[in-house]
Amino acid sequence: MIPFSPPRVDDRIVEEVVDALKSGWITTGPKTKLFEKRLAEFTTASKIVCLNSGTAGMELMLSWFGVGEGDEVIIPSYTYTATANAVVHKGATPVMCDVGDDFNIDVNKIESLITERTKVIIPVDVGGMPCDYDELYSLVRSKKIRSLFTPNNERQELLGRVLILADAAHSIGAKYKGQNSGVLADASAFSFHAVKNLTTAEGGALAVNMPDRFDHERIYKELNVKALHGQTKDAFAKVKKGGWRYDVIEPGYKYNMTDILASIGLVELERYEEDTLAKRRYIFDRYTKELGKNDWAITPTYETDDKISNYHLYMLRIKGITEHERNLIIYEIYEQDVAVNVHYQPLPMLTYYKKMGFNVDHYPKAFENYTHEISLPVYYDLSDEDIDTVINAVVTAYEKVMEKSRAQKAV
Ligand SMILES: *Cc1c(COP(=O)(O)O)cnc(C)c1O
Repeated sequence: MIPFSPPRVDDRIVEEVVDALKSGWITTGPKTKLFEKRLAEFTTASKIVCLNSGTAGMELMLSWFGVGEGDEVIIPSYTYTATANAVVHKGATPVMCDVGDDFNIDVNKIESLITERTKVIIPVDVGGMPCDYDELYSLVRSKKIRSLFTPNNERQELLGRVLILADAAHSIGAKYKGQNSGVLADASAFSFHAVKNLTTAEGGALAVNMPDRFDHERIYKELNVKALHGQTKDAFAKVKKGGWRYDVIEPGYKYNMTDILASIGLVELERYEEDTLAKRRYIFDRYTKELGKNDWAITPTYETDDKISNYHLYMLRIKGITEHERNLIIYEIYEQDVAVNVHYQPLPMLTYYKKMGFNVDHYPKAFENYTHEISLPVYYDLSDEDIDTVINAVVTAYEKVMEKSRAQKAV
C-alpha cells in the first residue's frame, strides 16, 4: 500500500529525540527556544511562539486580540474544521465565505460579509498556496471597512482595523511576492501535525508580525504567559536558582511545545528547503507532467508570478464528474493499493455546522471544488516507482469508472 503522507522518521530524527530525552529537559526548554529562533530566521517573522498545535496558535491569537461572544470572524467554507472550531471555542461566531477556483477564500466575496462585529479574517493557504494578501489588506485598510470596525479593547484600538490571522497550517516555506508565509499576515498559525510537510509529530507555532506600532517583545511575553496557564514564569525559568515564585495573571491555556517535539522540528527545518521542498516539488512536477496529458485532469497551480507553493497537497481535480463518480474513482484507486484523500468536505456539509444553520448551497464553488477533488500522496520517501504506481492507479480508476458510467447512461 502506498500511504498518503507518512512522516520522514530517519536516524537523524531518532538521534535528536534521544538527545532531548537524555538531556534531562523534556518539556519546554532550550530546544524549543532554539526552534523558535530558527523559525524566526527562516520565516523572517518578528516573533515566533512554539505551541503544541496549529489550532492552539489560532486560539491564542484570537484570545490575545480579545475576540469573544458577540464578535464575528470570517473564515473560508473550504478548510479543515480547526479553523472554524478555534472561533467557536472563543465564543465568537464563524462567518463563512465561499472560495475561488484556487481553493482559497474569494476576497471579492468578503466585503459583503463584514459588519461592525467583524474582528478577524482567517484566510487559509489551502494546500500551501498563499491567499491574495494584498487584496485582503486593501480591503481591511479601506476607509469604508475601517469605519465599520468597532474596537472593544486597547489592542483592537491600536490596530484600528480587522485583524488578518492566517491559518498557515499548510504553508510554511511558501512565498507571496517574495515574502515568506509567516509575514504575510498580522499573525500566522503553522501546524506541525504528523501529516504536515514540516512535522514535530504534533505541534505548531504562531508567527507574529503586527504593524510596527506594536511592541513585539511584549506580545511575545503576553502570548507565552497565555500559553502556560497565565503563569508569569515557565518551568525552565522556575528551575533557575531561587526562581520558584511565580504569579498567575489570567486563566491561561496549556499550549506549550515540549523540547522532544522541538528536537524533531530542528532537524526538519534544517533540511526543509533544500531537501524536503525540493523532493516535494519533484513529485508535483512528475504528477503534473503525466496527469496533465489527460484532458479530464485539472492539475493544481503551484507557482504563479506572485506565489510559490510549498507543495503541501497535490489537489487534483477531475473535470465534469459527479460527487458519486469521484467517490467511485477513489474506491478504485484504493483497490490498487494507493491511499488518496479529499481536501475538503466543505464545512457546511458537516453535521455541527449544518446545525448552526450553514447550507452548502450558499457555497457553490466550495461544493464544486469538493466534488471534483482527489489529493494524491506526497511525501519524502515516495519513490519514482511509487509515483508511476499512483499515476497509473488514477488513470486506470478514472477510465474504469467513466466507462461504467457511460454504459449505464446508454441503457
Ligand atoms: C492541520 C490543520 C489545522 C490544525 O493544525 P493542528 O496542528 O492539528 O492543530 C488547521 N487548519 C488547517 C487547514 C489544517 O490542515
